[in-house]
Amino acid sequence: MNAATGFVYHEDYLRHDTGDHPESAERLICIMKRLKERGLTEKMERILPVRASQEQIEYVHADAYAKKVEAMCKGGGGMLDPDTPLCRDTYSIALLAAGGVIKAVDAVMDESNDLKHIFALVRPPGHHANSNRGRGFCIFNNVAIAAEHLKRKYGAKRILIADWDVHHGNGTQDVFFEDPSVLYFSTHQYPHYPGTGWITEVGKGEAKGFTVNVPLPIGTGDAGYLYALNTILVPIAAEFRPEFVLVSAGFDAHSADPLSSMEVTSQGFGLFTNVIMAIAKKNCGGRIVMALEGGYNLNAIAESTLSVFNSLLANTGELREGAVGTSAQVTKRVEEIKEVQREYWKV
Ligand SMILES: [Zn+2]
Repeated sequence: MNAATGFVYHEDYLRHDTGDHPESAERLICIMKRLKERGLTEKMERILPVRASQEQIEYVHADAYAKKVEAMCKGGGGMLDPDTPLCRDTYSIALLAAGGVIKAVDAVMDESNDLKHIFALVRPPGHHANSNRGRGFCIFNNVAIAAEHLKRKYGAKRILIADWDVHHGNGTQDVFFEDPSVLYFSTHQYPHYPGTGWITEVGKGEAKGFTVNVPLPIGTGDAGYLYALNTILVPIAAEFRPEFVLVSAGFDAHSADPLSSMEVTSQGFGLFTNVIMAIAKKNCGGRIVMALEGGYNLNAIAESTLSVFNSLLANTGELREGAVGTSAQVTKRVEEIKEVQREYWKV
């Protein structure tokens, strides 16, 4: 048993029934099967989630929005938006997803155990949901709620959210756009759903510079992502000095993903995890909670999750230079981002 690494999972996550839809229960079934086959579930602590309270949901979401989701589910479900189906159980399972990420944060903050890195294998995902609207398969913003929990329960003043899902986390950006206590960093395919996440979206007022968008061209692979992480995220994080690192871990930038056009490999996600671990080790005693977002090729998400856990378990967290094989397009984009962020950070 590796006492530092854990995962959150509950069979009830399978009960969010989306019908014939890419964001299916099969995703978690495949991930858990692969982890068991490779003996990883034996090596780690399993954390059982509990449902987030109404009060915790309202850290981020408007009361009226939460009530609307609850009422739709009570009535048997329906479509929250054209992409986002709800079933009778969805409200309760969405509370359990948010509660799973909260429970992971509490376990890492609990000094009486050795847990440092937890990956919350939850669904529905969350990063497209903002205060008053769920969309893009997302109901409640699990990671944003966990960040608010860190602020309110533990008094955290500097939280880093790194979002490597292939889509821009417009919901998370919205929630913290004027909040300098949360630094939101996102890599995403651009242009792509939901259309936001250009480099000039940097936050507002006091929080200018606390949103860092890295829109990447179609076809970006491991090398380009590592180059962006090492060149932009690593120096900004060194200056920001996060007290906790949250990761919106989607696997839809994988080359096999049916909804996107990036070229990341399963091993690539393990390398990204090493970068995140290096940041967390240097700044906050290694404290990381990751939460599953998207990723729709079943084999790819199972392999990618495996790769992330192998990095967490190995706990090396070494930085790997990613410049080799970076395309000229990515290098140019990174320069443009540095130009924008130079006003706020020593990049
Ligand atoms: Zn996504």
